[in-house]
Amino acid sequence: MAGLVSEVYSETIEYYPDRPSVIRTSMDDGEVGVDSSVWIEFGNPMDDATVRSSFAIEPQVDGSFAWMNSTLYFTPADGWEDGESYTVFMAGCNFKCLHCQNWTISQYPDNNCKPCRYAEPADLAEECIRQLNSTYGKAMRADRIFFSGGEPTIHLPFIEKVVNDARKIKPKTRVNFDTNGYMTEKSLQRILDFTTSITYDLKAYRDEIHLALTGAYATPVLRNAEFIARHAKDKLWEYRIVAIPKINEGEIQLLAEFIAAIDHTLPVCFLAYRPNFVLENHIGATLELMDRCVEIAEQSGLKNAYWSGHAGISGKILDIDLEVKQSYRSKQAQLAGSYAQAAGCRTHPRNCSMCLSNSKCKLKRYIPQKST
Ligand code: SF4
Repeated sequence: MAGLVSEVYSETIEYYPDRPSVIRTSMDDGEVGVDSSVWIEFGNPMDDATVRSSFAIEPQVDGSFAWMNSTLYFTPADGWEDGESYTVFMAGCNFKCLHCQNWTISQYPDNNCKPCRYAEPADLAEECIRQLNSTYGKAMRADRIFFSGGEPTIHLPFIEKVVNDARKIKPKTRVNFDTNGYMTEKSLQRILDFTTSITYDLKAYRDEIHLALTGAYATPVLRNAEFIARHAKDKLWEYRIVAIPKINEGEIQLLAEFIAAIDHTLPVCFLAYRPNFVLENHIGATLELMDRCVEIAEQSGLKNAYWSGHAGISGKILDIDLEVKQSYRSKQAQLAGSYAQAAGCRTHPRNCSMCLSNSKCKLKRYIPQKST
């Protein structure tokens, strides 16, 4: 059998001297270990310089080459990135969060930021699978399509179609849904029907703070968070809570107790706030605050709490607007409302779905001068 293969390749070389024959590669069987080399076994001796100059990984990865007989090994200098996915950012959001990190996308098209590209569901599905199956996708162990935003829920029928089409190409395609949790119970059930995993944002426990910070009520978000924990715990990747000094600091304990009361093993990741969007000049989360978040969570009984992100970015705290002050009871909501007011929101307490100025909202057109 080996002789026959050799003969076939001899002929191939004779007729197509400029075309290398590849017998197999390390990606043929699926994933590559995070520290492993990738390799290509050729059916004939190759010119080292020619192969190296033709070898490309997108995006570029630095590393070293080595030959063993007719097999070329490439070892990345810093290993491959781990636990990655192919992320699809969906434009638009049902919240107007003052601290939005993805404001160019979430408030599109009102802010006239870089145009988002429309793709037919079938084309997007094909692109997702192509990227996941690419050399780089396999090398970085990308294992799922990650729908983020903006808020993917507002595109639910579209996403269902993409997932359906992707699974026609690759039946076991995994899908993550990254959500703010603001949806009906019926929509949540539809999402749970096709997702492999869910990353779930919690921004505040009390409605007043949630309204001032996002423009929407916390109640449905908490209801859905509990539903997932009780009925689809295996799908919950983690709850994510961005810790914003002076605005939702007081919510950390309430949220931690809320989660611990459902199940103390649920995963909770606290994210260090980085000044952005309407809160561009506000102070970032400090290291002390992030450590305190984890401490509070553990004291509340949570066994799986941790934090990540970049802490310690400096800033300043806005003075509370006297006109806004009377619309909110708590200092945190008064501060968030003051930031919203400074960015053009004149409806307090904020409640965007009921706001008569929604179509002319200045806040969603807000362009920050800096981002971190
Ligand atoms: S103006 Fe209305 S829609 Fe705009 S942020 Fe304020 S409450 Fe929300």
